[in-house]
Amino acid sequence: QAKRIPGTSLALAEPLRVEQLSSALENEQALRRGIRTQEVYLDYQPKIDAVNGKLLGFEALARWQRPGIGLVSPVEFIAIAERTGLIAELGAALLERACRQIAVWHAELGDCVPVAVNVSPVQLLTKGFPQLVERLLRETGIPPHCLTLEITESAAVDNLEDTQTQLRHLRGLGIEVAMDDFGTGFSSLSMLRELPLSTLKIDRGLIIPLPAPDAVAVVTAICQLASALALQVVAEGIETLEQAIAARDAGCQALQGFFYARPLTVADAGAWMQRQLSAGADGRNAGDDAA
Ligand code: C2E
Ligand code: MG
Ligand code: MG
Ligand code: MG
Repeated sequence: QAKRIPGTSLALAEPLRVEQLSSALENEQALRRGIRTQEVYLDYQPKIDAVNGKLLGFEALARWQRPGIGLVSPVEFIAIAERTGLIAELGAALLERACRQIAVWHAELGDCVPVAVNVSPVQLLTKGFPQLVERLLRETGIPPHCLTLEITESAAVDNLEDTQTQLRHLRGLGIEVAMDDFGTGFSSLSMLRELPLSTLKIDRGLIIPLPAPDAVAVVTAICQLASALALQVVAEGIETLEQAIAARDAGCQALQGFFYARPLTVADAGAWMQRQLSAGADGRNAGDDAA
């Protein structure tokens, strides 16, 4: 009988060995402190309209500047948080910060700057998660459609019904839901119609080989399927103009990647936005500046 993660129907991946315990405890204590002291924070990566080059919004990406160690990858510390049960506290803190940032930008611009927040499967399936989102929307007063939650298929693969229930509740609040890293994991096509999604984010692994014809064929097929299901498509990991043009021509509405911008500090993200507003669409426009 597999061990369960408290408060969820998820199985714990693997038990800790005895010799791992002390460092696990150290990591947990350090992370717990990091959440409180702002060592853990969010960077914001722009998302660009594939056709006119305008800023569509940002994805919030967690960072941990760990004293004495340096920048720790979110992949690493999210895993620590999931194993130690800190994920609810960490996830809630990050979500709250993103909502507060949406409120600040909304107040400054008088307009909604959409922000997407990554949600771990453990966090998504935690009882009370939709209620947390509901409370944060109420407390920050942000328009619900300004917030997108990015989920991965791993929650849905093992727990389709629970995932459906949570997502229905969340969509009912008026927020958007994106399926992240689509096309490389275990996501079945039937999941796309069984889950109430608004957006598909095509994994970087499918974008890297663009504009190779076989890769173009795969991305085009995903975009056609998404369009038939009324889903928006974002291509992630765009690093070159050639990839941007191919993704746009294949039907991706939004593009994200180092070609446009790396994840930015809040201040730099704000500056990016101001530049967009004062100059109109001065983002790089896929293809039109290629000649
Ligand atoms: P993701 O949500 O798929 O985020 C995209 C990752 O690709 C980010 O890495 C981003 O910095 C990177 N990236 C963006 N454009 C490019 C590009 O053009 N080339 C390359 N090589 N990489 C690019 P990051 O920030 O290290 O995050 C890794 C993963 O950690 C995320 O993948 C997400 O699954 C998870 N993560 C990050 N922040 C959070 C969070 O706040 N909560 C949760 N639960 N997970 C998070
Ligand atoms: Mg993401
Ligand atoms: Mg992704
Ligand atoms: Mg990814």
